[in-house]
Amino acid sequence: MVDDEGTNRDLSPNRRQVIAGLAGAALGAGALSAQDPQGRGGNRRAQGKSPWGEETYKEPTPAPVSVRPGEETLPATPRKYTDIQSYHAHIYFDEDTHEKAALLRRWVAERFHVELGNWNREPRGPHVTPSFYFGFTNDLLPVIVPWLQLNSLGLTILLHPNTEDPRADHLYYALWINRAQPVNAYGMKKPGSDRPSVEQIYPNTKPTVAIET
Ligand code: ZN
Repeated sequence: MVDDEGTNRDLSPNRRQVIAGLAGAALGAGALSAQDPQGRGGNRRAQGKSPWGEETYKEPTPAPVSVRPGEETLPATPRKYTDIQSYHAHIYFDEDTHEKAALLRRWVAERFHVELGNWNREPRGPHVTPSFYFGFTNDLLPVIVPWLQLNSLGLTILLHPNTEDPRADHLYYALWINRAQPVNAYGMKKPGSDRPSVEQIYPNTKPTVAIET
């Protein structure tokens, strides 16, 4: 309801304050053009020209070039899934979650014959937060995916295949456990004249614990 002063008494005092503030701001904006064209009231406009030029609004909408291999146009047939040689699991953590990462790392090493990498306490390669990784052969996939789903401890995990295209492996062929996070892989090698060799897996753990079933 609205009283004589135009104040809506159905709103909380806080809410009324917000509305009053908005009204004040609108009045201020109107006053700006008439009395204060420089916007000295905290809305100062920079003098000069945009380095992007004055007519970016006229640029046509671009169609990005496909970066997936073999997909410059729609592919005629699906890719062979047997192009996948192995997998990586990258486990991400930060100063609040490193103990969970350490526990998960120990559990993995105790149970799976995988290639366990170093601790990366800082961003490394395309990985923008601290991480560690383990690589595994295709035969372990049907066990490792559900095992990580139930044992992630809430950590973000990137699971990517290894094909002859590391960039696409990280950017386009990925599976995520829990929330995804950025992966800075645009600069990675892609198939071309200096064709990178497919990532090889050399298991280095010695499992001692039977997987719980
Ligand atoms: Zn990887």
